[in-house]
Amino acid sequence: MTLSSSSSNTTSDALAAFYDEAAQLLGDANVSRDHLTGNVKDQAGRDVYGDPFSAQDVNQPAGAVRPATVEEVQAIVKLANKHRVALWTVSRGKNLGYGGSGPVNGGVTVVLDLHRMNKIIEINEEYCYAIVEPGVSFFDLYEEIQRRELKLWPSVPAIGWGSVLGNTTDRGFGYTPNGEHSENQCGMEVVLPNGDLLRTGSGAMEDNKSWALYKGGFGPSFDGLFFQSNYGIVTKLGIQMTPAPEAYATIEIDVPREEDLVPLTATLSDLMRRSIILNSSSLANIFRIALTSRVPEVHARLAQYMKPGSFVPDDVLEEIRVEQKWGFWRSYFALYSSVEMLPGIIKTVQRAFSHIKGVNIVIREFAGEPGHYLSAPKDVGEEEIPHNGIPTIMPLGILNSRGGPGGAHTCFSPVIPPSGRELYDWYLTAKQRITDAKFDFFADFHVYPRYVVGIALVIYRLEEENGIYDLLDHLLHDGAQQGFFEYRTHVRYMDTVASKLKFNNSAHMRFATLLKDTLDPNGILSPGKSGVWNSEVVRATKALKAAAL
Ligand SMILES: Cc1cc2nc3c(=O)[nH]c(=O)nc-3n(C[C@H](O)[C@H](O)[C@H](O)COP(=O)(O)OP(=O)(O)OC[C@H]3O[C@@H](n4cnc5c(N)ncnc54)[C@H](O)[C@@H]3O)c2cc1C
Repeated sequence: MTLSSSSSNTTSDALAAFYDEAAQLLGDANVSRDHLTGNVKDQAGRDVYGDPFSAQDVNQPAGAVRPATVEEVQAIVKLANKHRVALWTVSRGKNLGYGGSGPVNGGVTVVLDLHRMNKIIEINEEYCYAIVEPGVSFFDLYEEIQRRELKLWPSVPAIGWGSVLGNTTDRGFGYTPNGEHSENQCGMEVVLPNGDLLRTGSGAMEDNKSWALYKGGFGPSFDGLFFQSNYGIVTKLGIQMTPAPEAYATIEIDVPREEDLVPLTATLSDLMRRSIILNSSSLANIFRIALTSRVPEVHARLAQYMKPGSFVPDDVLEEIRVEQKWGFWRSYFALYSSVEMLPGIIKTVQRAFSHIKGVNIVIREFAGEPGHYLSAPKDVGEEEIPHNGIPTIMPLGILNSRGGPGGAHTCFSPVIPPSGRELYDWYLTAKQRITDAKFDFFADFHVYPRYVVGIALVIYRLEEENGIYDLLDHLLHDGAQQGFFEYRTHVRYMDTVASKLKFNNSAHMRFATLLKDTLDPNGILSPGKSGVWNSEVVRATKALKAAAL
């Protein structure tokens, strides 16, 4: 029994009346009465709403509305309250692997699609920040920075067509020193469920000059309430960026043995705590190194195994590893510094990893000139991992690797301490689960100074979807047993992850429900986001559960 199954009381009459009034407000072209059109187009030109990585209709929305201004958002919120219609907020709806634009409550929830709100309000080169609306993509921000020839390297995720604001509110990440987006957010504007308009932090004061500079504000901080939440609709967001450095180097460190994950992770996180490495390092395993390589014969060998019901065996991966002289693990990060400092930092990094037997360090150095700040596109160029902030959608190609086009992926994304020991123990359990389920373990680990987000990315075909859900159930259960939860999850698993937050009789979720009832008594905003529902839904679910016993 999920919470969502007891919360669907929107009638088709209410939906029809809502659409009619929304169309008067926004125009017919900006109201979709089903899920089939209106979304930001995908690579194949399709504009369907929902989860593109699912053939099931569990998370399929009823329709969508596309306001273009804050005032229109406020008016839509009032309409939703009037007709008791639930909205599911997305900015560009590209939350691939986590449900796309699909809501928790399929069939009755209307997507509030903000991609038409696409203004870059401000870019400040001196203080390295931008203020953006929800529809601004990572490509849009990057291209505007290039157009104005600003000395800024904005952070971008591995694929850049998503929204700066949407990615940040879901605690997404990129790869520059400002890549932990929720940490680098400063200032928000939010439409509340009653239609009121709030500015957080320094924005609480009209014409304050530090809105995107000083996050604290005066008194209680509210920004945290709007991450992964259903308490408001964020309509503007300040995001801080990395200044273009004078000197730069990309580093790849290969280590040969599976158990080398421990010293590799420990050394990386230590160097980060000491501010020698400034950006998060990604870690790839041999499967990912092979899959993302440009070696045709390696791809041909992987293809023999990468199909439904099969995975690439360890001995094949080991043969490839030895033949190609690759590591079992590869760490990717970059160094950003002044001209004088770069050689010294490189030496420190080389020394720090030299204790790992068989380590191989590849350095691509851009030594720079004093006073000249590097241009990412002109001086460095596009990278496999966008440490310099040049957006791409190239990684989408991996989805076609399991038996051709039309593949999908999901992620299990636990947060783990960064010594390497806990990560290795968890990795061994998760790898066993994933290969038992006949999928490949693609490591997309991200090391930070004080934690690792150990993303296990699983590529599947839609006919294997049910197997994926069984697998995720196991991974969630195992992770919780080991003391870890996910930093972010697919809409299907939000109740499950929330159910693990049990400290003091689930005080966290009780508080979340109290806030939900207070701010959004009609439950119109993203019901079920992060497992948060109004108390009437929680009560109804408990009653249904009791009756089922
Ligand atoms: C191959 C591949 C690689 C990827 N790599 C990365 C990566 O490196 N880093 C990463 O973070 N992700 C990654 N992703 C996942 C995902 O594609 C990105 O995070 C993407 O940016 C999310 O989509 P979006 O920006 O359009 O956000 P949206 O889908 O618009 O929003 C995401 C969620 O945030 C909330 N939200 C959105 N807008 C608002 C708002 N205005 N107010 C309140 N809440 C809101 C909603 O709950 C929404 O569901 C990857 C996906 C794939 C397929």
